[in-house]
Amino acid sequence: MIRRSKILILSLLCVNYACIGCNQPAARDVPSLGVKLTDYHAHLKGGLTLEEVLAAGKKNGITYGIAQNCGKGFPVTDDAGLLAFVESIRGKGVYVAVQAEGREWVTMFSPAALARADYVFTDAMTWTDSKGRRMRLWMPEEVFIEDPQPFMDELVDTIEWILNNEPVDLYANPTFLPAVIAEQYDALWTIERMDRVINAAVKNGVAIEINSKLRLPSESFIRRAKAAGATFSCGTNNAGKNDLGNLEYSRQMIAKCGLTQKDLFTPKPEGQKAVQRKKLPQPRRTETR
Ligand SMILES: [Zn+2]
Repeated sequence: MIRRSKILILSLLCVNYACIGCNQPAARDVPSLGVKLTDYHAHLKGGLTLEEVLAAGKKNGITYGIAQNCGKGFPVTDDAGLLAFVESIRGKGVYVAVQAEGREWVTMFSPAALARADYVFTDAMTWTDSKGRRMRLWMPEEVFIEDPQPFMDELVDTIEWILNNEPVDLYANPTFLPAVIAEQYDALWTIERMDRVINAAVKNGVAIEINSKLRLPSESFIRRAKAAGATFSCGTNNAGKNDLGNLEYSRQMIAKCGLTQKDLFTPKPEGQKAVQRKKLPQPRRTETR
C-alpha cells in the first residue's frame, strides 16, 4: 500500500512538473492551436521568481525555458557560473537554457558545461563591424549606421556566420533591427536577405524564434521559412516581472501560418545538442570579412 502511494506520488510529479528520469518538463496541448506551447526564452529578471513563472505557465498552458545570459559583460562569464545556474534550476519543471551573448562566448565556456543546459541560443544583436566597432543593436548610442544598405549586408553576413559556425539550437530575437532603421523593416529585409538567413538556419538545424515581445520575425519571413523547412521556437525575452506575456504574437503566427507541432522546436536529446554536434569555433575576426 505504501509502495503504491509512493508510485502514485511519483507519477503525479512526472505529469505536473518534470519527467524525473529525463529532466524534461511536461508540456500540455493548447486545444485552439493544436500544439504544445513552450516559451523557450524567459528570464528570471526584475524580481520575477521561478514560482511566478510556473504559476503563469499553469494559468496559460505554457511550459517555460529559463535562460541565463552568459558572456562578456553579463552575470555569467565562466563554466562555474554556468553550472551553478543549471543546478539552481534543474528538475524544477522548466527547461534550462543558456543565452550565449556577444561573439566572445565561444571562448568562455566548455562544450561539456554548455551541454548541461537543455539548449543554447544566441541572437545577432552584438557584433563588431568591419570598421572594428562593437555594437549592441538595442543600444542607440552603440549603433553605427552610415548607410542602411551596407549595414544590412553586414548584418546578414554576421547572421549567416553565426548560424554556420556557432553551436546554437535556436536563433533568438531574429531579424531585429536597431531603432533608427526599424521602420524600414519590410524594405530592408528583402527576399534575398530573408532567404540567406532562412537557408543558413535550415542547413544548420537551428530553430528560428518567433519572439512575442519584439513581434519578430515578420509573417512573410515565417511563411518563407516554413516553406523552406525551418523549425520555430516561441519566445518572449522578458526584461522583468511584468512583460512575460502569454506568447500572443507566437500564437497569432502559429495560427496564421498554419504551423503544426512538427514545425516547432523540441530540445534535442543528450548527444544531439548543437554543442555536441559542432565544435566551438574561434570567434569571427574583423579582418576576415
Ligand atoms: Zn534574452
